[in-house]
Amino acid sequence: MRAPAGLIAVGSLTLALAASGCGHPAPDAGAATLQDTAAVRLERLTNLDVRVADVAWKLALANADLCPVNRLRAGWTLQSAGQYGAALRPLAEARYGLAGDLPGILAAPPGSPAAEAGLAPGDLILSVNGQALAEGQAAAVESYDGLQANAATLDGALARGPATLTVRRAGAVRELTVRPVLACAWPTQIEVTGTFRSRTDGRHIFISDGMANLAQNEDELAFVLAHELAHAVLEHRTQPDVTGVRGGLNWALSMRRGLSLGAEADADRLGLFLLARAGFDPARSVEFLTRYEAVSGAGGPQINAGGVYESASGRLRTLQPVLADIAERTASGRALIP
Ligand SMILES: [Zn+2]
Repeated sequence: MRAPAGLIAVGSLTLALAASGCGHPAPDAGAATLQDTAAVRLERLTNLDVRVADVAWKLALANADLCPVNRLRAGWTLQSAGQYGAALRPLAEARYGLAGDLPGILAAPPGSPAAEAGLAPGDLILSVNGQALAEGQAAAVESYDGLQANAATLDGALARGPATLTVRRAGAVRELTVRPVLACAWPTQIEVTGTFRSRTDGRHIFISDGMANLAQNEDELAFVLAHELAHAVLEHRTQPDVTGVRGGLNWALSMRRGLSLGAEADADRLGLFLLARAGFDPARSVEFLTRYEAVSGAGGPQINAGGVYESASGRLRTLQPVLADIAERTASGRALIP
C-alpha cells in the first residue's frame, strides 16, 4: 500500500515495491525488526519523517522557479490515526492527539509557512476557513482515504492564499493563520519497505526507509531527494521514450539505446544543482555514492525491474565535472543555473 499525495506512509509496514525507481531491493536496511517495541518503531519512523520533510521542503522551496508544476504550500507533513495499522494506532493517537481522519501535523519544517504560523507536531487541524474537516470513523485496517480527502480540502484552501485554521493542541483549541508560499508541487513520502530505493511517478517523490537511513546527514539525503526532484523537473515520467521506464518493448528498446542511462545521468547532474540551490553541499554526494556502492555492490550498470542504472562509481565519474562547475560558480558568485 502506498500513501497518496501529501501524506507519509509513516505507519504502514508494507512491502510494496515500485514499478520504477532509482535503486534496488536490498537486505534489511532499517526496517522494523521483531524485537522492536511499537514505541521504538513509532519513534524511529517519526524521526525519519521529520528529517525527510525538512530536506524535501528546502528543495521544493528553493527550486520553485524550475519546477514545471508549483503551487502554494504550507510545507507541512500530515498524518492521521486512520493511516496507522492496529499495532501502532493507539500509540499514535496517545502521542499525537490524533482522531480518526483529521489531519495532524507530523512535521512542520523550520521556516515553512506551517512553522511560521505556529503549527507544531502534535497539532490537530479541525477546520479551515470555517469549514469543518471530516473526522470520519477509523477503519479497522489502515486507510489514507479520509486523510487524503481532508488534505485535498486544505490544499484547495491554500491555493487561494492565507487560510485560517482551527487547531487543537493538548486539548486546547486555537485559531492560526497560515500564509502559504510557492514551492514545487510534489510532496515527498517515505515508503517503509526496508529496501534501498527512491523513485518518482511525476506527482510524488518516494524514498524508502532504507535509503533515507543510508543517508548520514542532510546533504546526503538532499542528494537522493534532489535526484528524484530532477526526474520530476525533467518530466521523465511523461517521456517514456526517453527513460524507458514504462516497461515492455519500449523499455527494452530504450535500454538498448542507453537512453535510460542518459536520463539517470541527467537527473544526477541536475540534482546537484537543485540541492546546491537549496543550500546543501553537493560534494557530500561522493561519500553517499561510495557508501551506496558498498551496500549495493560494485560493477557495471545495474538492471532491475525499474530500468537500468549506472554503477555508483560510474555515477561518480559523471558527477565530478558537475561538482567542479558548481564549486566554481559558487566561488565566483555566478548563478546556479544548470
Ligand atoms: Zn533516477
